[in-house]
Amino acid sequence: MTENTETTESRFETGTVLYDPASDRVGEYRGKAGPYALLRPLGGGREWEARPESLRPADPGERLSAGVRAANSRSTQGPPASGVGPAAPVRDCAACADLAALRDEARARHDGSAETDADVLLRRHQLRYHAALLGLRD
Ligand SMILES: [Zn+2]
Repeated sequence: MTENTETTESRFETGTVLYDPASDRVGEYRGKAGPYALLRPLGGGREWEARPESLRPADPGERLSAGVRAANSRSTQGPPASGVGPAAPVRDCAACADLAALRDEARARHDGSAETDADVLLRRHQLRYHAALLGLRD
């Protein structure tokens, strides 16, 4: 057996815009994650893992619609779904400050899902460590 396994590196360069048929998404190639190729949405956001063998460079139409989608998701940012509003960090708590900074940073780059994740972590942390102080209940 002298079969050559073609590696992802040899096929795509970092930054190449690829189409992933499995998820019907277009993303920028970021490198390898184990057996998978790591792709990042064009408008920013969470990376996802794709099967390298199914990927191909996106054609101009796909790139365009992905770009439009990214622009739309940026402009349709509303207040958080939970009616209570974003959790506020507790003074002098490093963990609160870290999580709030993470959330602000995500908001600054219009990454709604990362922003929500950070907010959920902040709430969870506050429920555990500051429940009495903030009048939170289990
Ligand atoms: Zn805290």
